[in-house]
Amino acid sequence: LQDRLTHFSRLSTMGEMAAGLAHEIRNPLASIAGSSQLLRESAASTGESATLLDIIGRESQRLNGLITDFLAYTGPSQRNSMRLDVAALLRDVGEAVRAGEAREKGVAVELAALPALMAEGDGEQLKQVAWNLVRNAVQATPAGGKVMIDGFEQIRHGSRYVVAMVVDTGAGIAPGILEKIFNPFFTTKEGGTGLGLSISQRIVHQHKGFIEVRQSPGKGCAFSVFLPAASARTVEGNGDG
Ligand code: ADP
Repeated sequence: LQDRLTHFSRLSTMGEMAAGLAHEIRNPLASIAGSSQLLRESAASTGESATLLDIIGRESQRLNGLITDFLAYTGPSQRNSMRLDVAALLRDVGEAVRAGEAREKGVAVELAALPALMAEGDGEQLKQVAWNLVRNAVQATPAGGKVMIDGFEQIRHGSRYVVAMVVDTGAGIAPGILEKIFNPFFTTKEGGTGLGLSISQRIVHQHKGFIEVRQSPGKGCAFSVFLPAASARTVEGNGDG
């Protein structure tokens, strides 16, 4: 037992060191990215040196993404829990992705007219989940396709859930891949970190929810996040329940 305790405490120390290291890498990385950007914009940057500077910029962005995802994965699991409207959160994320990555790619992002969908949880963490799903959907969808965001309430196993659904018209998931997509570091994308879905699943489980994937190869995917709906009694909180 003593040996196992020592082993666990060493593992948790290593986890803390890794997180500390990730933080420390961030600042020099930002300097590298910033300096290469400045050089790239200078008149001297032409031909091969411009190409090389683009590579430095792109790769430092990729490392930064990896560190952000890693820190989210190893970060504290305590939640800053409050009552929140999942519909408003979906609208925020949908509009941000529509104006950014989706517009650049020529993918439409459609937001259904959503009713208020009250759940209990950490707004920042749940926003990250929505962000991961919507960005994945856009990345999976070819130009001219669309991503639809919907939300509703549903009873499952006798409990009331708020459901956030992201549907795309991408290529779907190839056979044999579906069971791996929630594994940390599993990715089929060049430059992907493979952490988005595993982080999302972890966050959703911490909120006592679950994620469902429906997909038909060639016809796209539907990812649904189920979160326990906040009951009206939670707000009133008169101590009777
Ligand atoms: P990353 O986006 O860095 O690859 P994720 O964990 O978010 O990491 O996704 C893991 C893998 O799951 C992706 O590389 C892709 O193969 C698959 N995937 C996720 N969302 C979709 C989607 N909407 N359509 C098709 N495949 C998807």
